[in-house]
Amino acid sequence: MLGIKGLSRGFETLKPGEVVLKTLRKIDGETILRKLGEAVRLDEESFPSLTSRSVFEMLVATVLSQNTSDRNTARTVRRLREKIGITPESISKAGLRELKTAIRSSGLYNVKARVLKKLARIVVENYGGNIEKILEKPVDEARRELMSLPGVGPKTADVILLFAGGKHAFPIDTHIFRVGRRLGLIGLRDSYDDARRKLMKAFPADSYLKAHLLLIEHGRRVCKARRPLCSNCVLLEYCSFGQDFLKREA
Ligand code: SF4
Repeated sequence: MLGIKGLSRGFETLKPGEVVLKTLRKIDGETILRKLGEAVRLDEESFPSLTSRSVFEMLVATVLSQNTSDRNTARTVRRLREKIGITPESISKAGLRELKTAIRSSGLYNVKARVLKKLARIVVENYGGNIEKILEKPVDEARRELMSLPGVGPKTADVILLFAGGKHAFPIDTHIFRVGRRLGLIGLRDSYDDARRKLMKAFPADSYLKAHLLLIEHGRRVCKARRPLCSNCVLLEYCSFGQDFLKREA
């Protein structure tokens, strides 16, 4: 249980176990960027998409990232690069068993190996090995085309558009969904596309990459799924979920 001592500004204490909230302040994208920008340290290793070397590698990393942690994905990507290489040619030529062994550490390796083989073959056959061509297209067309590839859903397409294409896209993972909902930026029943549109409206277009990374890291370190560390959160004064949570816990 969170103690009174741990409560941060925005609260005043009455007697043990009681807290009074000050007025909830309205939040906006600029404030989130400023507050989290001051509080959150971004580490490249925690974001495989930042350290990927090509669009194809990003596609491979996102397939490998399903149902495992980002750090584990980064390890598996390194191992795959060492053992087989991460190009459409190297993966399409690799034996299925060899590929499974190389990616075993990412889990679900039987399924993932098949998806990677299929993906590599399409890139070789349909794009002459150069999937980057898609990013030359207008953003909506590029998004549709990326989503037609095996293993590529809306989030992966948005990751590629944002990280590799430098386009205006806002990928939303489970951390961003949770933080966005708690802060009231996203509705509880919003679909991926609803949430994406709302966040793209809430943040300045040239800050999408920074906002995406900050929200993820905030979700990992502070706004955790089970026990958010609201008393240490720089957004507490703007967050009714956090204030209610602390009242319940007091
Ligand atoms: S106050 Fe709590 S619920 Fe709100 S953003 Fe911060 S950690 Fe998340």
